Parts: sequence; structure tokens; C-alpha cells
Amino acid sequence: MGTNKISVRFERPEIIRPPSEWRSYYLPLTSGCSNHTCTFCNYYGRKLKLRDVQEVKEEIDALYMYKRYGMVMSGVDPVVYYLGQQWDGKRIFLQDGDALVYPYGKLLEALEHLNRRFPDLERVSCYATPQDILRRSVEELRRLRELKLTMLYLGLESGSDEILERVRKGVNSAQMIEAAQRAKEAGMVLSVTVILGLGGVEKSQEHARATARVLSRMDPEYAAALTLLFVPGTPLYRDWKEGRFRPVDPFGSLEELRIIVEDSEFTNCFFSSMHASNYVAIKGWLPREKERLLRELDAVLGQRDPSLLRPEHLRAL
Ligand code: SF4
Repeated sequence: MGTNKISVRFERPEIIRPPSEWRSYYLPLTSGCSNHTCTFCNYYGRKLKLRDVQEVKEEIDALYMYKRYGMVMSGVDPVVYYLGQQWDGKRIFLQDGDALVYPYGKLLEALEHLNRRFPDLERVSCYATPQDILRRSVEELRRLRELKLTMLYLGLESGSDEILERVRKGVNSAQMIEAAQRAKEAGMVLSVTVILGLGGVEKSQEHARATARVLSRMDPEYAAALTLLFVPGTPLYRDWKEGRFRPVDPFGSLEELRIIVEDSEFTNCFFSSMHASNYVAIKGWLPREKERLLRELDAVLGQRDPSLLRPEHLRAL
């Protein structure tokens, strides 16, 4: 075991994680995002920083000593104990914006150490960009999966190449599909997010149709819709404030959601709009429950009653 001290050189990022990771322990490997150019994202401008793997292993050791023996050591960031206290020992979420970018050899080292200390772990997951996946071979991804990194969260955002380029996502839809296929071939589970309203009024229909098409080709086990929120400090926020981006209204975003649900052709996907950014929450298995989800959306779209929507002040990322 290394020293008991966790270095302060690496600044621990704030916790940004998918809603389904609420009971995970959040272990940072990086902070920021390797892309950090997407014009809508709260990672915009947050350059990637890598954490020393020795520090990562020391945190795993500190967590192990705490969970196994109740030992609290000096020099360890108190957040380790705060998170550790509530942790059931089953899931780890690797921070940050795309932890899969962490150098492969070091990622193996960190995962091997996690498995050594916590052999009963159920799963490890992280955010990943398509570039991170495409940088790895199927064999390399399989090795990660064997070490329980079994789930990747991937942001498609839009299936439209024009919109992807406009928001500076750094990849096109063909690369998105290729990355999803490679991860699936390696046996990883994918959770893919899309953003309603990302094309604005102008590109609303195109955005929804192309997103349904590409999402279906990616064919993930989980898919989630978010609704665009303007993050201060981002280029899209400025475009909106200065009138260059015309946002769709809440019912417009629900019409996009309806198109995505209706046009989708999944094998078996749990689809949801439960995220707090959305105006209406739906969830169900597609294609099995497509009719029910469409009925639920039609009930709201038919009435156009704003009181049926999540109030603006309760929407959040
Ligand atoms: S959307 Fe994803 S790739 Fe783009 S800046 Fe945000 S975290 Fe990075």
C-alpha cells in the first residue's frame, strides 16, 4: 500500500454524473474533458487534467481501509469518507467528463487495483467520447470490461452532422455509430444521451429525425433525452442572449421527443426523459412500449396546457 497521503496537486472535480449513478462512489481519474469545445456544455473550456495513477490507487486504498476497518487516515480528502460512508460497495463511477481518455496502461492499473481491493464490485462506469472508444481496439475494450468497466455513457446529442459540427462536438454521426458498434462488440453496455432543442427552431425537425435515425443505428441498451439548458459562459448561451439562436419552446421540444420515440427502431432499449432538464418525464422499453409512450406524449401535446410541464425554475442539469 502507498503512503496515506493523497496529494493536493490534482484538484478534485465537482461531481457531475448521470442520474442513474446516484449510489456510486465517484472516483476521479481526470478533471475536465478532452474535447471541451462543445458550445452548449458545462465542460466547455474545462481543459483535461490527468490524475497521477499513484494518487488514484492511494484513494482506493484509503476507501478500502475505511470500508473494511473503519479507519480514517490523516491527509486524506474528507470527501473520500463522506462518499465512502454512503457507499454500498457495488458501483464505481470514474470521473470526469470522459474518463475513458485516461492512458490505457494506467486505466488498467487503476481498475486492477480496484478489483483487488473490492472483489465484489458489480460494475464500473464512466463518460466516454466516441474518440476515446475509437482510440481503443475491441480487444482493449474487452480487457476493460473484464475488469468490470462494463458501462459507458456517451453523448450523441444530435444525429445531424450539421448540428454536430455547429456545436463543435468534434465527431460526426458515422463516428458515433462506429464507436457504439465497437463498444458493443466488446460486450460493453451503452447509455446514450440526446439533447432536445439543440438545433433550435430552424433545425428542429431535422434534428429530431436524424437523431432517431442515428440513435437507432447505435442501438444502445439505454437512451435518455435531455432538454437544452443554456449554461452561462458557453458560446451557445451567448448566441441565445444575442438572438443568434432561436430556442424551441417547451411543446416544440416535446414534439421532437415524440418524433424520436416514433421513428426509433431499437432492438431493446430502455428509453427515458426522466432527467430534470425535461419538461415531461416518460420512460419505457422500446419498441415494446412505444404505443404507450406516444399516448402519454400525445395527451400533453393535445392539451398544450403549461401546467402539465415541469416548471422552468425546477429544470436543472
Ligand atoms: S459534450 Fe461531452 S465531449 Fe463535449 S465538452 Fe461536454 S463532456 Fe466534453
